[in-house]
Amino acid sequence: MRKPSSELIFERSREDRFAYSLPETEVEKQNVQDILGEKFARKKKAELPEVSELDLMRHYTELSNKNHGVDTGFYPLGSCTMKYNPKVNEKVARMSGFANAHPLQDVSTVQGSLEIVYDLQEHLKEITGMDEVTLQPAAGAHGEWTALLMIKAYHEANGDFNRTKVIVPDSAHGTNPASAKVAGFDTVTVKSNKKGLVDIEDLKRVVGDDTAAIMLTNPNTLGLFEEDILEIREIVHHAGGKLYYDGANLNAIMSKVRPGDMGFDAVHLNLHKTFTGPHGGGGPGSGPVGVVADLAPYLPKPVVVKENDVYKFDHDLPQSIGRVKPFFGNFGIYLRAYTYIRTMGPDGLKAVSETAVLNANYMLRRLQDYFDTPYTQHCKHEFVISGSRQKKLGVRTLDIAKRLLDFNFHPPTIYFPINVEECMMIEPTETESKETLDAFCDTLIQIAKEAEENPEIVLDAPHTTVIGRLDETQAARKPVLKFEFLKEEKE
Ligand SMILES: *Cc1c(COP(=O)(O)O)cnc(C)c1O
Repeated sequence: MRKPSSELIFERSREDRFAYSLPETEVEKQNVQDILGEKFARKKKAELPEVSELDLMRHYTELSNKNHGVDTGFYPLGSCTMKYNPKVNEKVARMSGFANAHPLQDVSTVQGSLEIVYDLQEHLKEITGMDEVTLQPAAGAHGEWTALLMIKAYHEANGDFNRTKVIVPDSAHGTNPASAKVAGFDTVTVKSNKKGLVDIEDLKRVVGDDTAAIMLTNPNTLGLFEEDILEIREIVHHAGGKLYYDGANLNAIMSKVRPGDMGFDAVHLNLHKTFTGPHGGGGPGSGPVGVVADLAPYLPKPVVVKENDVYKFDHDLPQSIGRVKPFFGNFGIYLRAYTYIRTMGPDGLKAVSETAVLNANYMLRRLQDYFDTPYTQHCKHEFVISGSRQKKLGVRTLDIAKRLLDFNFHPPTIYFPINVEECMMIEPTETESKETLDAFCDTLIQIAKEAEENPEIVLDAPHTTVIGRLDETQAARKPVLKFEFLKEEKE
């Protein structure tokens, strides 16, 4: 594969080269200093790249090509549901009535937009089995925090001030304990058993009258269904705690089983995962929260209600935890999720989950002879394998992940969940063809062979990217995000 160009747009810049031609304006004819005054006018020309229109276009196209996305290649990042984002969603989100609406418009002029909000809430209620839904939270983690505040408000309204603890499994996503902490709780870890599921005996040990809630995702982050969920519900409810469902893995169970029917009291969904909102790149997400009737009085306000076929915001919720997001929330993502749900229908969503689960099981079986597989039972929409066999040969999971980049595959989630050594967590999603799944498995199998026969090629990977191995700590702590003009003196 050809290495992409590494020349920066600033290095391509040539003085007085233009990417546009417009008639000179009145402003340009004047002296800037006369308009702005000495204090605010630039002393020196702005340091901007000066390139032709074609070079400018190539610059942005190249940037987009450097960025791996679901539109450019397979992206089996476990627990993230990197499925195809249907382009019809984009068309709907760009309809001028939606795209040009202003958040401060009178509600009588945005009835259609509110209808979408209301209907989406209704669909999500049905999908999750919850009594009420708010769309306000901007992401999954934000939804976790929102729901935990509601659970806290519920306990406090009952005069129950000693429920300070939230139970999370050792396989939990990092946002679970983090949200609990930010919501003012302490976290207690419950262990997983040999089958990768919540250890019931350990749960009985940690649960008590200080338990505010347990946070679970089902299937869990190992891709395994918590088959004892009804017993878990009994234990936690009996102790007076609430069950929180982390909906990041909902792609495995749509139209099959609902968190509400499993006994959960609150759930968040990730519209940017399960419901095809574009994912990552810093774009907006959406983490709606559904709750059972007990918790409904504490919903963030305002809520969108329908009275005599008129949609409006209801601010009259005296026990509400308050607003968690300005205006409508991330409305553009609602439109995409709504379009997706309406184009799929209940049977379509069921087929999504069944295919996602089938794809994951197919890959697990193809890979299990070449990698250690800590859990061999049927998985749901994702599964974990371990690179510990390769580690004995000096090739770590990180090296395998880097080597995958040479084949235009995004690596799976690695070193998570933390209870599996040298973990790789693979989520193929339902939208990939068998050929793609096979190509990825073939590549992983090839890398396993390379680890035995030619480990250097794995250890030195990636070979085809602009930059090879980063110092990941430095890259996270001291990212270089802007061009430095070394030669010129700074003002
Ligand atoms: C992605 C994820 C979250 C957090 O969701 P965001 O939308 O990224 O904030 C929480 N739990 C699990 C299991 C996840 O995979």
